[in-house]
Amino acid sequence: MTAPTGTTDNDSPATSGSETAADIAAPPDSPRSRVWRRLFGNPLALLSMIWVFLLVVAWIWPEVLATRDPLKGDPALQDLNLTPSREYWLGTDGLGRDYYSRVIFGAGFAFQSIAIALSIAIGIGVPVGLFSGWKGGRVDRVIMWCNDVLFSLPIVLLAFAVIMILEPSLVNAMIGVGIAMSTRFARLTRAVTLAEKEELYVDAARITGLSSSTILRRYIVPNLLPPLVVQFALISGAIILIGATLSFLGVGANLDDPDWGVMLSRSRTEFRRVGIWQIIPPGGALVFTILAFNLLGDAIRDSIGRDRSSNALTVSKRSSVKPSDRAHREGAALSVRTMDVEFPTQDGKPVQILSGVSLAVQPGETLGIVGESGSGKSMTALSALGLTPAPGQMTRGSVQLDGRDVTSLSEKEWQKIRGKDIGVIFQEPIAVLNPAIKVGRQIMEPLLLHTDMNKKQARERAIELLAEVKVPDPARRMDQYPHEFSGGMAQRVGIAMALACEPKLLIADEPTTALDVTVQGQILDLLMEIQEQRGTSIVIITHDLGVIAEVADRVIVMYAGQGVEGGLADDIFDRPKHPYTKALLESMPSGQHTDRLTVIPGMVPAPSDWPNGCRFAPRCQHATDLCRNEVPELEVIEAGVTIRCHHWQELQSPATEEVGTA
Ligand code: SF4
Repeated sequence: MTAPTGTTDNDSPATSGSETAADIAAPPDSPRSRVWRRLFGNPLALLSMIWVFLLVVAWIWPEVLATRDPLKGDPALQDLNLTPSREYWLGTDGLGRDYYSRVIFGAGFAFQSIAIALSIAIGIGVPVGLFSGWKGGRVDRVIMWCNDVLFSLPIVLLAFAVIMILEPSLVNAMIGVGIAMSTRFARLTRAVTLAEKEELYVDAARITGLSSSTILRRYIVPNLLPPLVVQFALISGAIILIGATLSFLGVGANLDDPDWGVMLSRSRTEFRRVGIWQIIPPGGALVFTILAFNLLGDAIRDSIGRDRSSNALTVSKRSSVKPSDRAHREGAALSVRTMDVEFPTQDGKPVQILSGVSLAVQPGETLGIVGESGSGKSMTALSALGLTPAPGQMTRGSVQLDGRDVTSLSEKEWQKIRGKDIGVIFQEPIAVLNPAIKVGRQIMEPLLLHTDMNKKQARERAIELLAEVKVPDPARRMDQYPHEFSGGMAQRVGIAMALACEPKLLIADEPTTALDVTVQGQILDLLMEIQEQRGTSIVIITHDLGVIAEVADRVIVMYAGQGVEGGLADDIFDRPKHPYTKALLESMPSGQHTDRLTVIPGMVPAPSDWPNGCRFAPRCQHATDLCRNEVPELEVIEAGVTIRCHHWQELQSPATEEVGTA
């Protein structure tokens, strides 16, 4: 099964395919340049950007575009309300003021409105949304309830409320608008935070040992920026419209100000006398500006759309765990004793997901945890690392790391251990890497957090790590984004991150499942090489017995949240004792099979449907009344060899057929 360890993977960007020399020589677009290219390729977006750029120039340097003072009329004029001419491009208003210059200066009022309202909206909404989304649970519900109450109030009503409390002015009106708009930003930020915190790369950051505030700052906020920019553009148009409406109603800008709303209001009174033309310049400026912001918002959203799958891992706090009565394996790198994990249900009766799981891995040893999907393999590893997904809780048992009891450590204490003493490799290498951060920076993260290295030293070490995991041209690859890596190369980066602080224990959760067969072999060879060089203990979780056969020294077979058989890998493969282990081995493809593979009838039951007696009984051909009525205990046959079956001894004898007929 093992393929020669090489420096290239036969898999394509994202999952599989080939990464050729040409691919390496011609780096693909960075996400940023791709967004700009898409924006410039969209004619409507381009026109909108030109319009907004002109408005910005009119806001910052109005003198460059305006031809006259917008506040002073020409005393020499005989006739006011002039129509457009070569001298007055858009005519004059009822006070003889140049209409074109007033429209140009009006851009300043529009941008002033945006600046005030958006600073308040973002300043309040983003922190509230981050806090609410990250905390989740009851805190989130209370905050969002308050937010929704505020959200339901009309924006203009809040603007009027502030104006009444303070005094009528555009600034005060925009303070009210900003408070009202903050609810939109809070909702958006919360939604993004909820989605991002369930991404595997956030789990990976947590396992690295980063604190919540650091994860929010470095991992959530950068991914929040694209939707914020879209929201920023879309809401800017709405703010300009609200500001102009309030000025039109006489509660915004001063009546002499060259504000577009004020100009529309004045032209309304002059309308019968001078005709419609005075409405067109400020009205046109408003319509085109709002349209430009909306089109720009749509174009940015289309350009930065992203599609990634999510995996949930919201960590629960550990309840006070009843200690296990069984002794831990002496000298074990990781020892778990009789661990129970429960999840609450809606009817208040908790469901047990793991029942009495015990395992131990010695220094330099590889322990394989194998079983079908739903047997509790990953939950065992997560719970052992203090990462039981909320609202689940470890309710019994104990965990020791290198002889230290870590069963009831606080999250802060775990942060010092994860990433330093324990490295974790995940199943989906691309999903584990933060798409917004260069891979080099992500490898440097645990080094900067857990060692005394400065940035330069951490960068040098990260390059060494990439070379150690056989990523070609590591110095250049450091500055690339995850999307520029193939599935196999991304997994090598994941391994480099997990190894950064030279942990004593490496937990690899289905590390090769998302990769094709050739790359699987390369990654397994790499793990074995690393173990040989560093003496690292490895726990490898997989449903693939082929992987276990290749790398594991010891094996735990799990079924329906319990360990059903444990022992040396050779013994498990050559002389399996438990009917489930035998059934798994018989369903495994091998070169000796000439006819169809055996299939285990049925499937792993859901935790709420676990049978009363032996959980494997409904699928076991040897099941008896005893099996159906009495839970088999985990027997320790000798040190490190365990079995959970009422009839394992009888099943070893030639009279096997007689069992199961009762
Ligand atoms: S206890 Fe009975 S049902 Fe369970 S595995 Fe053993 S023989 Fe089968």
